[in-house]
Amino acid sequence: MNPGTAANRLKKHLLFNLSKRLDINWCYQCGASIESADEMTIEHKEPWLDSKNPKHNFFNIDNIAFSHPSCNYRAARAKKGIPCPSSTAYRKGCRCDGCKKHMAEYRKNKKARLKGLNSKQPKS
Ligand SMILES: [Zn+2]
Ligand SMILES: [Zn+2]
Repeated sequence: MNPGTAANRLKKHLLFNLSKRLDINWCYQCGASIESADEMTIEHKEPWLDSKNPKHNFFNIDNIAFSHPSCNYRAARAKKGIPCPSSTAYRKGCRCDGCKKHMAEYRKNKKARLKGLNSKQPKS
């Protein structure tokens, strides 16, 4: 393991350990407890990027909350207002793995449907 990875892992475990001792290891999104360091992600209650004072919001400890990775991810997706992953989101420009898969499925189904149509209407 390289020193950078080791240091990151230590920090993660330390953060989790301290949050548990302070009884703040609760998911901001779903309210359930976070049970391991791998389940803990840091998120900003108020999105810092679009705020008036991004730097302040980013480093403001009161603006920090913990959440499960899946909850964090879902919340980020929900904010965008695009049903993702889906072929619709893909057409709107999303290129995440989920959307790519949906688009591949969509294309496959379309081909299959066309094939079905052709076989039902034999050329005379
Ligand atoms: Zn959660
Ligand atoms: Zn997507």
